[in-house]
Amino acid sequence: MTVLPISFYPDPILSRICDPIEVFDESVKEMSADLIESLCAYGGLGLAAPQCGIAKQMFVCQIGKIDIMTFINPVLEREMGDELTTQEGCLSIPGVTGRIKRNDRILIKAQDITGAPFSISLINTDAIAFQHELDHLHGRTMFEVMDRVQKLGKRNSYIKKVKKWKASQKKTK
Ligand SMILES: [Zn+2]
Repeated sequence: MTVLPISFYPDPILSRICDPIEVFDESVKEMSADLIESLCAYGGLGLAAPQCGIAKQMFVCQIGKIDIMTFINPVLEREMGDELTTQEGCLSIPGVTGRIKRNDRILIKAQDITGAPFSISLINTDAIAFQHELDHLHGRTMFEVMDRVQKLGKRNSYIKKVKKWKASQKKTK
């Protein structure tokens, strides 16, 4: 198992629509194990393959506060609860949190690492984390799902910070 490096915003991989996984071979199991290892190393509720430079429809997510589950080719089947606004963070956008509105009770469909389909309902933090990771597979980060006003302010100050950091890296070389 390997801890994979994180792709940071505005890396173009984070805007890509990821490819579905069609062949469930050893490489799929390895990718899942690496993502779990990486999520444990970095901390956080979930980690999607594109955040580690892999444009495939897979993410791992902490469910029920203990288990880390792997979701392959996941689909949001039904929203069954109420809209809830919470503060979210993202390993690909360090130092930024955003208020995001999502449904707090959902029914989802996905495949496991053997390709077997499953369907479960998720509530509260689990539902929110699932939707955050699902966005990554469709090329959307928190910035794309925040409301406009929040997005402009937060993204501009984040981009400024990245530029400053890059400039300081050049100076020290
Ligand atoms: Zn994220």
